[in-house]
Amino acid sequence: MTNGIYPLPDDVVHLIAAGEVIDSFAAVVRELVENSLDAGATRIDIGISPDQWRVRVADNGRGMALADLHQAAAPHATSKIRNREDLWQIHSLGFRGEALYSLAQLADLEILSQAIDQPEGWRVIYTPQGEAATIEPTAIAPGTVVTVTNLFGNWVARRRGLPSPWHQLRQVQTTIQNFALCHPQVTWQVQHRDRPWFAIWAGTTARQILPQLLREVRPEDLQEVSLDLPLPVPPAGDSVPRVSPSLYLLVGLPDRCHRRRPDWVRVAVNGRLVKLPELEQGMMAEFRRTLPRDRYPVCFLHLHLPADQIDWNRHPAKAEIYLHHREHWQQQVSQAIAQCLHLNPQHLSESAHSARVATVLKTAEAVRNYGVHRTILPDATPGSPSLPLTAIAQVHQMYILVEHPAGLWLVEQHIAHERVLYEELCDRWHLVALEPPVILNPLSPAQLEQFQRLGIEVEPFGEQTWAVRQAPTLLAQREDCADALVELSQGGDLQAAQVATACRSAIRNGTPLTLPEMQTLIQQWQRTRNPRTCPHGRPIFLSLEESALARFFRRHWVIGKSHGI
Ligand code: ADP
Ligand code: MG
Repeated sequence: MTNGIYPLPDDVVHLIAAGEVIDSFAAVVRELVENSLDAGATRIDIGISPDQWRVRVADNGRGMALADLHQAAAPHATSKIRNREDLWQIHSLGFRGEALYSLAQLADLEILSQAIDQPEGWRVIYTPQGEAATIEPTAIAPGTVVTVTNLFGNWVARRRGLPSPWHQLRQVQTTIQNFALCHPQVTWQVQHRDRPWFAIWAGTTARQILPQLLREVRPEDLQEVSLDLPLPVPPAGDSVPRVSPSLYLLVGLPDRCHRRRPDWVRVAVNGRLVKLPELEQGMMAEFRRTLPRDRYPVCFLHLHLPADQIDWNRHPAKAEIYLHHREHWQQQVSQAIAQCLHLNPQHLSESAHSARVATVLKTAEAVRNYGVHRTILPDATPGSPSLPLTAIAQVHQMYILVEHPAGLWLVEQHIAHERVLYEELCDRWHLVALEPPVILNPLSPAQLEQFQRLGIEVEPFGEQTWAVRQAPTLLAQREDCADALVELSQGGDLQAAQVATACRSAIRNGTPLTLPEMQTLIQQWQRTRNPRTCPHGRPIFLSLEESALARFFRRHWVIGKSHGI
C-alpha cells in the first residue's frame, strides 16, 4: 500500500489557513509526531539535540514508498485529503501538506523510510525547495525516521527569538505528553542529547498515561468515562456524518488529587490538544466547592467530533479551534463530569487507596478492633442506580462505619451532613420570617449591605440597634441564630453564605446517632452530586476496599479450613 502523496488543487490551498508554523523545537516535534500518528505508529522515538539544532523522530508506522518520498516535501503535497469535500471529513491530524516542505526550507531534512509493503527502504535528502536531492537504498525496519538538522541555520532572527533552552525543552515535553494522553496506545521514548530523557508506556486509555506524567497521581485516584454523544441537530437525510460524536473523560477524584495551578484541565479534540477557554472554564466550574481553597482540578477531556462541528482554520498551528454548537457540547461534558463525581457502583469494584490503606491499617493494628462481623461480599453490581450501603456502627461519635459490596467506608458524620445540607441550600435557598426578630447591635454599613445582598430584611430598631426579620430556614430554628446571622453579615457571596449555613447546621462531631439516623444520613449523602468532599474540599470518607483488606490479612495464604478461610 502506498500513501499516494499528491499536490492539493489551488482552490483547496486557498481555503486552508495559510502560513508556515514552525517556530520552535516543539513545533518541529509536533509536526513530525502528527505525521507518525497519522501513519498509524504505535512506537515513536524522539531525539532532541539542541547543540546540533537537531530533532529526530522515528516511528513504526506504515512508511513511504519511493514515489511518495519524492513528493513528501513538495509544497502542499499530502496523502490525507484530495479535494474541497475532504476538508469536511478530515480524519487525520495533518492535511495541509506544508510541514515537510517548511522543514526542508528551514533546516537540513533527511527521511529514511520503508513502507510495510515494499521490498526495500530508502534514504532521501531534500533541497530547500523540497526536492529529493540524494536518493539511496537503505536497510531499516518498516517505518520512518525523519531527521531535521541545523534548524533555522539560515534564519538567524528566528534562532534569536527562541525562548530559553530550558523553556524550549519544557515545551517539547508538554507537546509529547499531550499527544500521549490523546493517543494512549503509543509508546514514547524520548532522548535529549542522545541520552534517555523520559519514556511513556502505552496503555489502553489515558488513565494509564496520566499517572506517568503526574507522579503523585495513581490510577485509582482517577475516574474515567466514555460516552456516545447526541448530535446537536439531528442530521438531515443524506448528510449523516461518518463520525458519530463521543467523548472520553478522565477526572481526578477531588478527595484524592488537585493542583496548585489551573494547569491540568486539558481538552483535546480529534486527537490533538486544543485551547477552548470557555469549555475549560465550564469544566473547572463543575468542581466548584469540591476542592480546597485555591486548588484546581485534574481533568482531561477528549472529544471525538464530526468534522463539520469544528473549524480548524482559526489558527495555523491548529491549537485554537472554533467549535460549532459549543453550548451543546459543553452540556454533555458537564453531565459526564457529574457522572464521574457521583458515587457509582463501578467505582467500588476498583481497589482504591491500596497503598494508603495499607499504612492506615498498619497504624490501626495496635489499636482496638471494632468487632465488625465478617460476611462474604458479592461484587458490586455495575449499573444499579444507587449503592447498597449499610450503616453498621458509630465510631467515636464521629465516624459512621458503612458496609458496601466491595468493602467498608469510614464516613465523617459532620462533613457528610455538611455536604448534604450545602447541596440542599444551593437547590433551595429559603428565607423565613423571624418571629420575634433577632436584635443585633451595632452593624457596620458593610454588614448591612451584605444582608441586603443576601436578600435578608433588616430594619433600624433604635440607637445602634437593628432588627433582622428573616433568616435562612435552617438557621431560623437554631439557638445560635444570632451568631449565625453575624457570621453571614461578615462577607462573602451567596455561595459562601450557603457554605457557612451548612457548616453551622450540620451534625457536630461528638453527637451520638442511632442506627436509623445514620442510615438516613448515609442515604442522603450518597445521592449528593459531589459526595467525595465537603464544600471546603475536605475528604468525606476513607475507603477500606475488600481487596486491600484481603491483602492485608494475607487471605491468599491458604493454611487450612480450621483457620476459617
Ligand atoms: P500533511 O501531514 O499535512 O499531509 P506533511 O508535509 O506533514 O503534510 O507530510 C506530507 C506527507 O508525507 C503526508 O501526507 C504523508 O503522506 C507523508 N508522511 C510524512 N511523514 C510520514 C511518516 N512519518 N510516515 C508515513 N508517511 C509520512
Ligand atoms: Mg503533517
